[in-house]
Amino acid sequence: MNDELKALVRTIPDFPKPGIQFRDITTLMLDRVGLARTVDALAATVDGKVDLVAAVEARGFAIGGALAVKLGAGLLLIRKDGKLPGATIAEDYALEYGTDRLTMHVDACAPGARVLIVDDLLATGGTALAAARLVRRAGADLVGARFIVDLPELGGAKALRDAGIPAESLFNFE
Ligand code: 5GP
Repeated sequence: MNDELKALVRTIPDFPKPGIQFRDITTLMLDRVGLARTVDALAATVDGKVDLVAAVEARGFAIGGALAVKLGAGLLLIRKDGKLPGATIAEDYALEYGTDRLTMHVDACAPGARVLIVDDLLATGGTALAAARLVRRAGADLVGARFIVDLPELGGAKALRDAGIPAESLFNFE
């Protein structure tokens, strides 16, 4: 069944720059059956109680809300720098050139809350690891991370495993 979902992802060559094969999930999101099955399939990978789904801006938001409702959890928005109105904590992470910054409201999750990170795609794991550092700094119990797509050649799943974060994805692009 996940192969059917994978077939709904469009590959755009040379985006955002030459040599990159961008895995475009907007085509999967446009498909009402595919969207519902994606959320169901992600929910089916989750064992035990989740208090908050922590969705990473921006494509993580596209599935985070639906997944939170499905799991009976709240939704924690992890955003790029300068977007959240309240007091925030921040974590920087490396990009190929330079760094980027993720933030979350300092009071967004109670210590001990069971938090699941969700994003559309796992590549090097830098984004998810920064989100994980935020959630852990807040004292939450990070129960895992979920993605629609994994790009295993980029090593993100191993990086998350090394950080003690159980991660699962619905399908890979080699
Ligand atoms: P990482 O930090 O794991 O190297 O990169 C993952 C982040 O970059 C995710 O937030 C994801 O949305 C974005 N990303 C990187 N490459 C792609 C891609 O090919 N397709 C999509 N949809 N997102 C990507």
